[in-house]
Amino acid sequence: MKLTVVGCSGSFPSAESACSSYLVEADGFRLLLDMGNGALGELQRHIGLYDLDAIFLSHLHADHCIDMCGYFVARYYRHEGGRCAPMPVYAPEGAEQRLTTAYADTPSSSSMSEVFDFHTLKSGSFDIGPFAVRTERVCHPVEAYGIRIEHGGASLTYSGDTGVCEALHELAEGTDLFLCEASFTHGKEDIPALHLNGREAGEHAARAGAGRLVLTHIPPWTDGDVNLADARGAYTGPVELAAPGAVYEV
Ligand SMILES: [Zn+2]
Ligand SMILES: [Zn+2]
Repeated sequence: MKLTVVGCSGSFPSAESACSSYLVEADGFRLLLDMGNGALGELQRHIGLYDLDAIFLSHLHADHCIDMCGYFVARYYRHEGGRCAPMPVYAPEGAEQRLTTAYADTPSSSSMSEVFDFHTLKSGSFDIGPFAVRTERVCHPVEAYGIRIEHGGASLTYSGDTGVCEALHELAEGTDLFLCEASFTHGKEDIPALHLNGREAGEHAARAGAGRLVLTHIPPWTDGDVNLADARGAYTGPVELAAPGAVYEV
């Protein structure tokens, strides 16, 4: 599998990065994990606008899904080749209505579904193209999912947004690459069931026995180097900060 960081800023975009979006490719299949603010533009640095095969939305906070409104326009009003066929979108319940409302005050009730085929997420295992995936509900103020993706004997796990969470431990068990959020700073923000800090991300990686840890979803007001040091204090494997355009072979 090839993982490309499209955007990795948490909560809102930074001057350097769009919000959450990660491209996972294998066997010519392209799965996008989240499409936050600014991600649709960045995505076009890596692949064509219409090259995606499926989309997974971890949850419906804007920094993970709002560029779906722009992508709807691109697919619905495509100039060459006409309207795009519906593509699978795996998202929490209510995604179609939320995105339709975000797009317009008085939307046609059916227009989103003409270009997106929404599948309601639940905790469980299923296939997306060549990938065997497992999703688990994680700990966040809205319905949110982490995802583990396996292909060719390798695995990567993406936390989505979550606080300290037993389900995340299980999802990341023995994973080769753990893409884990670290929004908060240890000792500075202590709000349960919302986000992880660097130390907690490191602890999750250590306990899960992850092969490699990539910290992501760090907001512009958080010092990533502090979170990196905190994660290294809890996890002895390789750990680094996600960066836009970074590529990992898993
Ligand atoms: Zn977020
Ligand atoms: Zn969130």
